[in-house]
Amino acid sequence: MPATRELREVLVVGAGIAGIRAAETLRQEGFDGELTIVGDERHAPYHRPPLSKKLLTGEVHRAGVDIAPQFDLDARVWRSASAVSLDATARTVHLRDDGRDLSLRFDGLVIATGASAREWPGGPVPDGVMMLRTVDDCLAIRDRLAARPRVVVVGGGFIGAEVAASCRSRGLDVALVQRASSPLLSVLGEELAPRWADLHREHGVDVRVGVGVDSFIGGRHVAGVRLTDGTHLAADLVVIGLGVTPATDWLRGSGLRTDDGVLCDATGAAEGAEGIVAAGDVATWWHPLYERHLRIEHWDHAASQGEAAARTLLAGPGNAAAYDEVPYFWSDQYEVKLQMLGVPIDYDAVEVVEGDVAGWEFVAAYGRGGRTTAVLATIPGRVHAYRDAISGGAAFPPAPAVSSASVSV
Ligand SMILES: Cc1cc2nc3c(=O)[nH]c(=O)nc-3n(C[C@H](O)[C@H](O)[C@H](O)COP(=O)(O)OP(=O)(O)OC[C@H]3O[C@@H](n4cnc5c(N)ncnc54)[C@H](O)[C@@H]3O)c2cc1C
Repeated sequence: MPATRELREVLVVGAGIAGIRAAETLRQEGFDGELTIVGDERHAPYHRPPLSKKLLTGEVHRAGVDIAPQFDLDARVWRSASAVSLDATARTVHLRDDGRDLSLRFDGLVIATGASAREWPGGPVPDGVMMLRTVDDCLAIRDRLAARPRVVVVGGGFIGAEVAASCRSRGLDVALVQRASSPLLSVLGEELAPRWADLHREHGVDVRVGVGVDSFIGGRHVAGVRLTDGTHLAADLVVIGLGVTPATDWLRGSGLRTDDGVLCDATGAAEGAEGIVAAGDVATWWHPLYERHLRIEHWDHAASQGEAAARTLLAGPGNAAAYDEVPYFWSDQYEVKLQMLGVPIDYDAVEVVEGDVAGWEFVAAYGRGGRTTAVLATIPGRVHAYRDAISGGAAFPPAPAVSSASVSV
């Protein structure tokens, strides 16, 4: 598609998977105007999922996590350059690059700035208390693992659970501290999340649930954590995984709505602005299937939203198609691959529809109001057989995709 008068210059802010997929799609769909990609990291774009898994354990090398470009993007790429503000009326993004202030004009803007790890709320932390979001974070943590530290992981979300698993697989002493009654509770629910607590315990992790961290012990370097129940855990390394915050600071004053990410319609167009789309961890899109705004922090979703957002820009106002893909994610812990298709938000029923939970080979469905809304599986690839059941709102529980033997929770 030759650049139209309306869309001659497209600016992508954020060089993660959402931004790169958006840029690729623009070129793939024939956009031949000016394309600029701005990212504030010094690295070439890379995949984040290995940072808590094989890059942390050392099973893959640094270069193995780079996003391999599908073809020449023919784009101007700015690395280590931060977008600091957006003037939506003047259609300009202001940047800071190596101490210089610059302005970039655009006809179309893709906001793909992702999210940042939530800082420890209690102020400054001693050396050895670390967070994991970037490749630099991962390599800094990995360096420390070489000294075989006692590790405490704070927070039982996916990042915390995966870091605990990776550290255990390196034979380290690991404790996992989680304020809720189980790791992964907020995503998997109370019926199935406790199995992942069992999984960690079976692998030798000291799992502490229903308790928080009161403070860190130690002087310059961390020596342990003091829990809210008064107990102490010795630690040479603490990894905090308290979730993320969408990276929208630079959009303050732009007129865009950013209550929990950039508020978008079902096509990814930012509400109240023309020619501006958002995708990935930073974006909150209306999802027609779930009939609500969702901000999803998963790789597959960020990639396909980036593609959809690019198509929305190319289609122009009023012509873009709604994006109604069923969200998907995976998580690897020890030998178990967890895969989830759909979003089990506000589910009122959960049932194992294939296999055996105790044996770690199962498919479980989540339902709401008698309809199937999500499917969780530990049998690799099996969730995809339930795509139609979820997108079509099939009666709950869905029929098993294959016949199964006895089922038990
Ligand atoms: C350790 C880890 C493990 C994960 N594992 C899995 C997994 O197993 N499965 C799964 O489905 N998902 C996983 N995820 C989540 C997945 O990686 C994210 O959902 C995905 O990376 C989001 O992509 P994104 O492009 O929206 O944002 P990001 O990857 O965050 O990219 C945004 C980019 O924009 C840059 N940026 C931010 N602000 C500015 C600014 N003002 N100016 C310029 N640039 C800016 C950021 O530095 C970043 O480089 C994991 C995430 C992490 C951190």
